[in-house]
Amino acid sequence: ETLYTTGDDLNAEIGNKLREIENGLLSWTDEDSQISKLNAAAGEMTEASDELAGYLAQIEQLADDSGGAFDPTLGKVIRLWDIGGENQRIPGEDEIQEVLKDSGYQKISLDGNTIHMDEGCSLDLGAAGKGIGCDLILENLKNQKDVTAALMNLGGSSVMTYGSKPDGSSWNVAVTDPRAENDDDYLGVVALNGTEFLSTSGDYEKYFIEDGVRYHHIMDPSTGYPAKSGVTGVTVVCDTGLEADALSTACFVLGVEKGAQLLKTYGADGLFVDEDHHVYLTEGMKERFSLLADSYSVEDILE
Ligand code: ADP
Ligand code: MG
Repeated sequence: ETLYTTGDDLNAEIGNKLREIENGLLSWTDEDSQISKLNAAAGEMTEASDELAGYLAQIEQLADDSGGAFDPTLGKVIRLWDIGGENQRIPGEDEIQEVLKDSGYQKISLDGNTIHMDEGCSLDLGAAGKGIGCDLILENLKNQKDVTAALMNLGGSSVMTYGSKPDGSSWNVAVTDPRAENDDDYLGVVALNGTEFLSTSGDYEKYFIEDGVRYHHIMDPSTGYPAKSGVTGVTVVCDTGLEADALSTACFVLGVEKGAQLLKTYGADGLFVDEDHHVYLTEGMKERFSLLADSYSVEDILE
């Protein structure tokens, strides 16, 4: 939300654009959204807009490339747990197995704009929505001739930088310490240059603790339970918002080694924080990251 511009009302315009995405495209609570319509049509062929079909194609590719760690069909699993919602609870094993049967990214098939999803399957694009929002804002900014540079921050976990700061220096984005006692205790700072996208996924965003166990909102699609890869937070930097957002979620599920391999195939940079207060940096991230929290140490990723 730092805009270098001579234009007015741009913030309002961007706000409207985001509401349009939220309500018209991605929301599963809003009956009129395209995702709700797709969910309602599970079991039948449906035609999607060019926009949605394009996103779904990228999303399916990311699901496949991550070996299913990122899975857009966890709708029922996510609603069953309702982490961060009014009905959050630990479901029974039988309930989890029941909803898992209706999940799995292979249940979606795309043929141009024609989409088929198996009956019972339910989409949830929560792990990619803010990234898509950033991509759409970029399109919008490119058409604003009086904006030379901008920093957009969607809910803290998705950040986009656009263009260069007037003084030519890097954009510095703070990364949250996943176990911070105060919200303004940062793990460190990541430098972004020009137009780049950063996304963070962590087990501290939405969670509850019961009997000493943390139940958080990033699910392992292979178990139907919150992912337990030893990681507490992952931050990814890459060229598109959708990729940054989906990759950070996938890497949280995959953990350090497998996550780092996935990032390599996308030419993305990443940092992983684990429960023992280690911070693991990919090669490209080493040049971007400065550690601030002295209870953490930087370690090499074992390949
Ligand atoms: P945040 O929304 O906090 O920025 P993420 O981008 O990691 O974090 O997205 C988490 C959201 O994605 C969850 O709230 C849920 O809606 C959905 N989700 C949870 N686990 C997965 C997963 N393994 N693959 C795809 N989506 C997921
Ligand atoms: Mg994500």
